[in-house]
Amino acid sequence: MSTVTANQRVFNFSPGPAVLPLPVLEQVQRDLVSLPGYGMSILEMSHRAQGFLDILAGAKQMLRELLAIPENYHIIFLQGGSRLQFSMVPMNLLRGQSAAADYVITGSWSKMALDEAKREGQVKVTWDGKATNYDRLPTQAEAGLNPDAAFTYLCSNETIQGVQFAEELDTGASPLVIDASSDFLHRPLNFKNIGLVYACAQKNAGPAGVTAVIIRDDLLARSQDSLPGYLNFKNHVKEDSLYNTPPTFAIYLMGLVLRWLKDDVGGLKAMHQRNKDKAKLIYDLIDGSGGYFKGHAQTANRSLMNVTFRLPNEALEKKFCKEGEDRGLDGLKGHRSVGGIRASIYNAMPVAGVEALADFMREFKKNNG
Ligand SMILES: *Cc1c(COP(=O)(O)O)cnc(C)c1O
Repeated sequence: MSTVTANQRVFNFSPGPAVLPLPVLEQVQRDLVSLPGYGMSILEMSHRAQGFLDILAGAKQMLRELLAIPENYHIIFLQGGSRLQFSMVPMNLLRGQSAAADYVITGSWSKMALDEAKREGQVKVTWDGKATNYDRLPTQAEAGLNPDAAFTYLCSNETIQGVQFAEELDTGASPLVIDASSDFLHRPLNFKNIGLVYACAQKNAGPAGVTAVIIRDDLLARSQDSLPGYLNFKNHVKEDSLYNTPPTFAIYLMGLVLRWLKDDVGGLKAMHQRNKDKAKLIYDLIDGSGGYFKGHAQTANRSLMNVTFRLPNEALEKKFCKEGEDRGLDGLKGHRSVGGIRASIYNAMPVAGVEALADFMREFKKNNG
């Protein structure tokens, strides 16, 4: 077996699991057999050992710092992915409530979350973008939110359609619940209305296996003791993410990504600017292509994370993906519900990768125009 070097890596545009920062992978490789100071691999270490407790505390502290999470919010790390949160959120926050929860339906993921919430209690769809195949988001006025809703649910970035809220909707007294799975840590968050934010790590924050949940303290009072132990947020807060064996390796790696964001990138404002600059390279090219490339999302709601677009026909789209792959641009095929191309350009996608994609798009149009 030979060691894979950085220059053998493709540019990975997969929606998730997705590209990770190279310095993070290199550190994992260096420290995998023996974590400096601990004499064993992170893979072998008890979750009760001081070594792991330090890693857990460090990851939490860095997350709190990067996102400026106020003191009255808890951070927990869970398994079961974001899918489990589709159920866990209404199980904990809706059972026993007299008011309905408001759901804003902006694409595939919020729709799936809605279907799970319906099993748990009363839900109200206040806006649904289906009429235009989820190519846009509601304005604050269009969203039709009720400030007395048990909570207000939205997905900040619809990974499949490529539409993204540029800022949080104002939900008044209703706690805002955000599925931030595919844009977590891509910019700072405004916690004013936030009751709960969750994100599986494998899109923008680490490997598959861990989901970060940030929950406002007062909401824990809603969790009923009749819930199964693992599904009760209160247990995870009380045991500080050690209610059962947590995904230790995934938390460790997420901690390294958080450190990369802080030390190498310079924080989330800098990350946001870098993300805007990267996305602009592709969106400007789409807009300047005379209609050869057609973006799926309406201009105001374009995602900085998942750029979705079509070519003149499906045969050309297939050719585009194939030729892209041949030159080391991997994972460009769009989701079947939208079709076309999806370039996922998460935090860890280097500018060079986006530039390589832009060059390829220009060349492809010239040869196939
Ligand atoms: C990927 C994704 C999910 C599902 O995550 P799993 O960890 O596979 O359960 C949910 N919401 C959004 C926005 C996603 O991108």
